[in-house]
Amino acid sequence: MLINYDNASFKDFENIPGETLLSTIKQFSAYLDFLRNNGQFNYRIDSLSPLGPEMDLLIPGHSDPLRSVCLVSNDYLGFSQHPKIKEAIIKGIEQFGCGSGASPAIGGHFIYHQQLEYKIAAFYGKDDAILYTTGYTANSATLQCLMHKEDLLILDMAVHASIYEGGLKTNVKTFLHNNLEMLELVLKSAEHQYRTKMVVIDGVYSQDGDLAPINAIADLTHRYDGILVVDDAHGIGVLGDTGRGVLESENAIDKVDIITGTFSKALGNIGGYVVGKADLIQYLKYQSKQHLFSTTATPAVLGIIKAIDLVDEEPHWRQKLWSNITYLKNNLIAAGFDVGTTASAVIPVKIGEIAKTLEAGKLLLQKGIYVNPIMYPAVSKKNARIRMNVMATHTFEQLARVIEAFKDVDKILHITNNS
Ligand code: PMP
Repeated sequence: MLINYDNASFKDFENIPGETLLSTIKQFSAYLDFLRNNGQFNYRIDSLSPLGPEMDLLIPGHSDPLRSVCLVSNDYLGFSQHPKIKEAIIKGIEQFGCGSGASPAIGGHFIYHQQLEYKIAAFYGKDDAILYTTGYTANSATLQCLMHKEDLLILDMAVHASIYEGGLKTNVKTFLHNNLEMLELVLKSAEHQYRTKMVVIDGVYSQDGDLAPINAIADLTHRYDGILVVDDAHGIGVLGDTGRGVLESENAIDKVDIITGTFSKALGNIGGYVVGKADLIQYLKYQSKQHLFSTTATPAVLGIIKAIDLVDEEPHWRQKLWSNITYLKNNLIAAGFDVGTTASAVIPVKIGEIAKTLEAGKLLLQKGIYVNPIMYPAVSKKNARIRMNVMATHTFEQLARVIEAFKDVDKILHITNNS
């Protein structure tokens, strides 16, 4: 099968109809070579410097590292580099060593895991929490554990890939992004047909940066006897007066049955969590395979405990993040760019065509601005965009350089109506 490279994405090479595995792999290599030859292969770029608002990047074709303003990291509060968090991790390693040695039920559960479970549950004012190795697994494993062939998972179409993976063992229906009428139709049509109905949404959507109408979704879900799960990976630490995320900013903390999330974004570390009622969490601790049969996190989780404290103790990071978000967003809008309906630290610049988006990513990188071109299947085919993640540690001067670079690229690619 011939694939048109100009409009292609990785997804087209996942399972090419009629092709053998060997031929699929070869065709994928040829596509990557096409991107490399066009200078559009912006993936797995090596950074020589620590994660930060500027990094030295090894770009193919450049002999020297390129100092770039980086808007590719979910380290929204800059906590991956916070001295107090580093200190907590170093102390943890000195006290407990580098690894935990076993899965949780049979020897790998240490006091620091227990403390983190209490900490993250208390952060949301809920009973208990379970830890997973990643935010991805927190979603996929929990849903796989709870939902079986008699059940129905109802997903907003724009939820994260890990949630779709959670649906592999059950029935799945989707509704158009944030579309309440369609959600109600799905809930209605599912009445009396399935044992458990579970609605899963993101708090902040990772490609548009927009928020879910959680209160309305919770009311609908409960009216039809469903369970509501919210993944607030991009909301924790960023949204809400005290950084409890979208559940706080939407005043919906008591309306959600299960909260999932990650320590890998605003909390600057790695690992996932699920928070909820004590008996549900206990069930997961002994039934969720990816938790039960997998080694627990390293003592570096002591840094996560510190990071959660700092969300309360150092709110100025969240305040600076929001002044950066407002600065970048308002200036992009003033220059004519379409940033959609973002209400978070994720800022998209919508372009449309895949080829133009890849070219924009390439030109921006050449100017020392490191951003992510996003395309199908992360977004629909005609909805490709540049995505940026703002951090508290960006300066206005760095963001001003980003805005100027976008204006220059607009003159070449005609992204806005002004150009
Ligand atoms: N949920 C959402 C909405 C995400 O954007 C991500 C990260 N890309 C995850 C879950 C997975 O989290 P992690 O990277 O910690 O596995």
